[in-house]
Amino acid sequence: MREVTIIDVSARDGLQIEPNVVSTEDKIELINRLIAAGINKIETTSFVHPEKVPQMADASEVMNKVATKAEVDPIVLIPNMKGFERASAHGRVYEINWISSATETFNKKNINRSIDENFKIFESVLREAKLAGIRVCFSIAVSFGCPYEGHVPEENVLKLVERATKAGVDRIGIADTIGIATPNEVDSLIKKVLDVAGDTPVSVHLHDTRGFGAANAYAAYLAGLRIFETSISGIGGCPFAPGSAGNLATEDLVYLFKRMGIQTNINFEKLLDAADFAASLSSKESLGRVRRLNRERTIEEVRCI
Ligand code: MG
Repeated sequence: MREVTIIDVSARDGLQIEPNVVSTEDKIELINRLIAAGINKIETTSFVHPEKVPQMADASEVMNKVATKAEVDPIVLIPNMKGFERASAHGRVYEINWISSATETFNKKNINRSIDENFKIFESVLREAKLAGIRVCFSIAVSFGCPYEGHVPEENVLKLVERATKAGVDRIGIADTIGIATPNEVDSLIKKVLDVAGDTPVSVHLHDTRGFGAANAYAAYLAGLRIFETSISGIGGCPFAPGSAGNLATEDLVYLFKRMGIQTNINFEKLLDAADFAASLSSKESLGRVRRLNRERTIEEVRCI
């Protein structure tokens, strides 16, 4: 039985800031390797304006190819109704991911709307998604700290959680977009978020900017959370978040869970294959630690450390 769910976001979050546009073929190869490792929830692309994020201009092509893969539930990020229309044309979209920020300044800089304006558009997209039978995740960026406003009061996040839960979303995402959270902050906020969200599933999206990613994930686990968004080989970040570097590496978190006897249903050796491939696509040095260790030691040895 799977005790925790890992959503790998590398094909979207990992590749959207790559200075070189990664080919559709390589994106599909990355997705295939993740599927081979047993990851069944993957954020595959985003339907954003191709001029804003040219790295995601092949969103439709990626989804056409993913559509044939029954083993995976594809999740796509969308920022507006046009994006939803493009995404929902693909019958296989499992869930859409919508982003709001916890602070007005970040929201304005990221998507050029106030939090309220963004939420109004979200409500109409949510209605359409329900009609189309597509699940909806409402993600809250900069939930712990904002590069423009500094520390983010828990109240900012909780208000949005309450609003989205009442609107009827299928998942709430809490994101530490700049990798500033500490485990005690994660513990405090996640417990409150789970309480407000009630039966609505909650996930965390962590960055490893300061090396606290795995500690924060474990804090979230102890607080009762069971869904984690990570990126294979730690690739990616946020193009609009100064100081943001590297998502928590999928293989690092899976390794931690395995060592602790927490069931992920993921094949670790195959996951390292996917991590190798992701690292080869990325122009940045990989943040994932376990994969680098494995270059010098056998997997058995890595397991015994
Ligand atoms: Mg990220």
